[in-house]
Amino acid sequence: MYNPNHKLKDFVQGLPKTETHLHLEGSCPIELIREASPGQFDSDPPMWSDDFRYESFDQFKEMYDQFCASVFISAEAYHKCAKIVLQKCADQNVKYVETSFHVGAVIGGNIDGEEIVDAVLSAAPEGMDVRVFMGMCHNDYTGLGEKIIDECIHWDKLTGIDLHGPEYWPLEPWTEKVWKSAKNAGKFLKAHAGEFMPASFVSRCIEELGVRRIQHGVRCIEDPNVVELIKDLDVTLDICPISNLKLQVEGITKMSEHPVRELFDAGVRCTINSDDPFMFGNSLSEEYYALATDLNFTDNELKKIAQNGFDIAIN
Ligand SMILES: [Zn+2]
Repeated sequence: MYNPNHKLKDFVQGLPKTETHLHLEGSCPIELIREASPGQFDSDPPMWSDDFRYESFDQFKEMYDQFCASVFISAEAYHKCAKIVLQKCADQNVKYVETSFHVGAVIGGNIDGEEIVDAVLSAAPEGMDVRVFMGMCHNDYTGLGEKIIDECIHWDKLTGIDLHGPEYWPLEPWTEKVWKSAKNAGKFLKAHAGEFMPASFVSRCIEELGVRRIQHGVRCIEDPNVVELIKDLDVTLDICPISNLKLQVEGITKMSEHPVRELFDAGVRCTINSDDPFMFGNSLSEEYYALATDLNFTDNELKKIAQNGFDIAIN
């Protein structure tokens, strides 16, 4: 996607970085997909081309199911995936990673959730700090999902929870209760907001769920009051520019329009991340190239973005 000059390439490579918005399932290495479905995916996936755009989040989900879903059938599969994904991070000089897996693997896939957490943590390369989150959709708190979500806040090695899935599905009343219990149990809270829903959903997640780390959050730019709220409450946005472009987030038809420039200039603490590298064909380094190339971020500004990730790292 980006063809940076040597200077930029060396600068980004030399910069110690973090990844604080990375879905394991959407990062699935192609070799594992080919191993799980021999002969089916021999050519490069269409979404890896630069001009590919998802028509909708539903199409994103369908393509995820088509390519990746068959891989995640055991804790061992999560381990294999995490091993490759985290090593790719290490190769790009990433020192700290927050990654998530989806509760669906535990509900429908019948895999033990704590085993998934162990499988991911034990895949971390030497010298890298890894934190694991479990993500859940707005409507996952039902049947077995209710039991698992209530239990997960007591899993020792799980760092926290994240609100995943279609943002436009209604936010159900259980969410507030669970996010509060999770906080009381010492878990760290995240939520996806301000990607497909307007700024008001970002403020709801901050105010009702008590979240101080918003995944994406870019549509907060539509309401100056929400931008102020984010600054006042010291909220961080874990932003993924290439994902936003390929998913056609409102107002972003080309990278130069991405609000990360404006948010950064307004003093909002932002980090830069890759979201689902398999689904977008991107890498973390490319996210930095995008900022430098299309949004005129200077070396010092890129350094600040990288430092933000270390400043918010969870002990
Ligand atoms: Zn995400």
